Amino acid sequence: MDEAVPTNIVVTCPSCGHGTVFQMPWPFHAGYGDQGFLYNEAGDRTLIWSSFDPDYQAAVGSKPPWALTDEERQKFEDRLPPAPSGGRWLFRNPARCVRCGNPISGPITETTYYLRYDGSVDRDVARGWGPGLKGMLKPAAPAAPWRPRDVWLGVVMAAVLMGAGYALVFVLRGLHAHPNVDLWYALFPTLFELVLLVPVWWFAGRKYHAPLRALGFRKFPGSVLGIGVGLLFAFYFASGIYNLILHRFGLQAQPDIRPVFGELASPWPLIFSTVIVAPLVEETFFRGFVFNGLRSRFHWAWAAAISAALFAAAHLEIWFFLPAFALGFLFAFLYQRSNSVWPGMALHFILNSIAMIGILVLT
Ligand SMILES: [Zn+2]
Repeated sequence: MDEAVPTNIVVTCPSCGHGTVFQMPWPFHAGYGDQGFLYNEAGDRTLIWSSFDPDYQAAVGSKPPWALTDEERQKFEDRLPPAPSGGRWLFRNPARCVRCGNPISGPITETTYYLRYDGSVDRDVARGWGPGLKGMLKPAAPAAPWRPRDVWLGVVMAAVLMGAGYALVFVLRGLHAHPNVDLWYALFPTLFELVLLVPVWWFAGRKYHAPLRALGFRKFPGSVLGIGVGLLFAFYFASGIYNLILHRFGLQAQPDIRPVFGELASPWPLIFSTVIVAPLVEETFFRGFVFNGLRSRFHWAWAAAISAALFAAAHLEIWFFLPAFALGFLFAFLYQRSNSVWPGMALHFILNSIAMIGILVLT
């Protein structure tokens, strides 16, 4: 008989019947100790901290961890480093059976009783179990210094500049019966894109001296790219169905620009404008400036929806509004997950490259 470990408890897995052993006399009740706990994604480690921890309270306020809103949860999760065995600490992760991986105890959103796995991370400074969260939390993403008011003014400025651009094109068209087609399709798309940088400079750079970091030009977790590629596949699937429906009604989402390529002396300026300039400028304006500026005041999903609607409207193609809105929301979601403009820009680059390759192959 082994009587040296009388304080272990065994939690039997409802799926495979395996008993996972925990070196604790009973499942702890987080509420009694004012503790927060999270499991990693594998569900084999526990992170424990005190809700009196000053770094916790600085991050999300003085609410107990089980009472946080979705947004507050995500804010906290984003600042946690990976678990010692890999994977993220997330509020939705349950404790899992060490043999089959099925849940054996709910996440903090479902139960305040928690299990402490071996090799766990104790940071409960109030009970003296650990050193507290200090030094563990990553620095919070800096909030955009410009306000929603600056965003609205920036959008108006962009619209006015674009309108002036269209008026100029209209006048030039009147003056030249046969405009140089290469100039037309190379210079103007690039100029129209670059116009979007003027309000960004005016309302973020000139007014608030915001560094490029504040516009999202910062490091990002590589996993976000994987999520983005997955979502891009989902987008292609949905937009394929959408295009089939449009086709049945004799419509198309975007005009066929293949004939244009036939007339161009060189396709490269148009390719450069579409593949390089558009992702760079549009992500900076719609995600780095508009979305980022709005999410400091609105829920991120509303900020994403508003920026996506503006992004879609700017394409000036009625039947492309829905796909463009979905893409705009996708790019904003990637920004929200990474606090960086780069993942959306990379996806935007891939998307436009595929579109261009498709056009060139079919021309
Ligand atoms: Zn099991």
